[in-house]
Amino acid sequence: MKATVDRDACISCGLCVSICPDVFEMDDEDISVVKVDPIPAEFEECAKEAEDACPTNAIIVE
Ligand code: SF4
Repeated sequence: MKATVDRDACISCGLCVSICPDVFEMDDEDISVVKVDPIPAEFEECAKEAEDACPTNAIIVE
């Protein structure tokens, strides 16, 4: 499983990092980036929660 963030869609709310800090972090431009590829099995659930919670649907987990 892999996560991607659409940088143009991210509004820097930080929700994904709050929900799943082992997969997402904010970069120097305050945009969410994915730290791990592929997503370790133990973090897949929170990555999907972050995908569902993102207010702009910037996260795709597949
Ligand atoms: S939840 Fe979505 S909009 Fe908010 S920081 Fe994460 S990717 Fe960006």
